[in-house]
Amino acid sequence: MITSDLIADSQKYLMNTYTRQPLVLVKGRGAVVYDSDGREYLDFVAGVATNNLGHCHPRVVVALQKQAQRLMHVSNHYHNEPQIAFAKALVTNSFGDKVFFCNSGAEAVEAAIKLARRYSREVLRKDRYEIITMLGSFHGRTMGALAATAQEKFHTTFEPLTPGFRYVPFNDLSAVKAAVNERTCAVLVEPIQGEGGVYVPSDDFLPALRKLCDEHQLLLILDEVQTGLGRTGKLFAYEHWGVKPDAMALAKGLGSGMAIGALVTTAAAAQAFTPGSHGSTFGGNPLACAAGIASLETILEDNIIVHSVERLGNYFLQGLNDLKQKYPFVRDVRGKGLLIGMELDFAGKEIVAACLREGFLINCTMDTVLRFMPPLIISDVEIDQLLEALERVFKKQ
Ligand SMILES: *Cc1c(COP(=O)(O)O)cnc(C)c1O
Repeated sequence: MITSDLIADSQKYLMNTYTRQPLVLVKGRGAVVYDSDGREYLDFVAGVATNNLGHCHPRVVVALQKQAQRLMHVSNHYHNEPQIAFAKALVTNSFGDKVFFCNSGAEAVEAAIKLARRYSREVLRKDRYEIITMLGSFHGRTMGALAATAQEKFHTTFEPLTPGFRYVPFNDLSAVKAAVNERTCAVLVEPIQGEGGVYVPSDDFLPALRKLCDEHQLLLILDEVQTGLGRTGKLFAYEHWGVKPDAMALAKGLGSGMAIGALVTTAAAAQAFTPGSHGSTFGGNPLACAAGIASLETILEDNIIVHSVERLGNYFLQGLNDLKQKYPFVRDVRGKGLLIGMELDFAGKEIVAACLREGFLINCTMDTVLRFMPPLIISDVEIDQLLEALERVFKKQ
């Protein structure tokens, strides 16, 4: 089928929920993807910070092939090996003691919301339910996660929202303090706001939140759906600040492209859930967990975080800052590891389209923030290529 017919069918048969670029991606290898006309692109979107190991990493592919031949799905009324092994691996490599598996970021956040309310009521025996979240946050599109997401543009026309959320400015401890009351049970925050424009908090913010939560017996829930699994130069972003949460939502990079989400918690917080209190039919299925194990093992065994993310993140940030010096319309460059934002003083849509014509996939969030989140296996050369393309595009502005 020719590309224009494919796109026509896409528009005819799919709901109109995304602004899609006019290309059909058909295959990928490493940081490169190919469209239906055989054109090649360097992928700095990586499925929105998801394809951490690039496209079709051989180790993930083999793990999936093997598992698909053995067992793809069983009910959670039974145990299955990949789920147990993946939970163990996540616990071994994080602050956590226990894992609940689901299928997406929004679902991991939903699990966190339910856990926080139930923890207060069933474990602490306090009838509290309010969760403090941050303006500009993004936690997903389901009704609970949507209410947690403190951005009006996502709420409008979907009201009434799930009650029980209070919004405060990001990175503003006194605002969080002022919002705590006798109904508060948790604080939910992204360690670095991703969709909201790549905002890194000041170094004292998360430690101070930890302290505040301890003082009031609140759960500190980190939404690491975007920042987790090496994206920011640590396996989990909380490590940058030496802060341990009570619960952490994971998804995007967790399965290198397979749909899987997880809520990781301390043993204390995990007491909130008992048989019947939460669940998911597909959550923790053997196939998704096999991809998860292969991804995590590859990240750790190949030392990808220290060898690539930390070093290349700094290199990339430097290159983008050099462009900022040259082009005054670049307002700001910020980020950590391979999650980087470049804020322009105009809408970034045209830049995204121009980069596409140059053979580079990049993203733009909040209208004016170009967002770069390449696979963690990206190379220096590939980063240079993007920087050169960006410069060619900027020159024409
Ligand atoms: C993408 C994202 C989500 C939602 O994940 P889905 O898998 O799309 O439901 C939640 N939180 C953060 C921080 C995200 O970046």
